[in-house]
Amino acid sequence: MLTFKSIKSKIILFFIILGVSFSSGCSDGASIGDLNLFSISDDVQLGQQVVTEMRKDQQNYPVYNNQQATAYVQQIMDEIIQSPLVKYRNEFNYKITLINTETINAFALPGGYIHVYKGLLKYIDNEATLAAILAHEVAHAERRHATKRMTKAYGAQFLLGLLLGQNPSQIEEIAANLASGLGFLYNSREDEYEADEFSFKYLQATRWYPGAGKFFFEKIQGQQGSNSSLEELFSTHPLDQKRIDALDKLIQDAKLGNPSESNVFTTRYNDFKKTLN
Ligand SMILES: [Zn+2]
Repeated sequence: MLTFKSIKSKIILFFIILGVSFSSGCSDGASIGDLNLFSISDDVQLGQQVVTEMRKDQQNYPVYNNQQATAYVQQIMDEIIQSPLVKYRNEFNYKITLINTETINAFALPGGYIHVYKGLLKYIDNEATLAAILAHEVAHAERRHATKRMTKAYGAQFLLGLLLGQNPSQIEEIAANLASGLGFLYNSREDEYEADEFSFKYLQATRWYPGAGKFFFEKIQGQQGSNSSLEELFSTHPLDQKRIDALDKLIQDAKLGNPSESNVFTTRYNDFKKTLN
């Protein structure tokens, strides 16, 4: 039976969480954006559950069973996660799945499950661009954008439920709801800036040109509304001039030399593209 004292402390805690939510407009210090009520293993568990749901949906997420192509993409990601800035390479399951549709997009599930559409692999022109996109997705997983957004959206409700001892499997319930809507794949603009920045920094520790995200921006710019294969990309990874300018600034500040075949790898990538059917 609940005593007055325990109810009171729960109510206080509830309002602390609400207070944090309400003050999300203020961004000085540790902001609401960094608050995460999920643990690292919750991220992995949630990601696994969504993977399970997705595999049942072969219409929208048909797995592309091309082992050679999957291994090639996986190998690039394996190198990226060796960056000293990647924190959860041991806790997360950094695993590539290719999806057999012409959609030009990629996404990260919590816990490191990175999905890349065949349409994206065919669309881009060199290996460095692929590395930049993979590093961007690794950053979404590493920075735990999905569970941070879920904390914002469900935080108070979730915590109150746990405090009141209702349904201990609430994470599973939330996961099921989210997997059906896949709402958490829709990154905010803030998430995009952060993922671009971390992508650049991860790549600085690799053999790929760190500014290669720019090749992709240049290619998709102006195609919004005219290329239906890009629709999902624009809705899940919002692109605006600020992202392009921010990447340009990173490139300038790092005083990178001009990209060349030795860090872009166009020839090798074109050979890889020929293996996609
Ligand atoms: Zn993104």
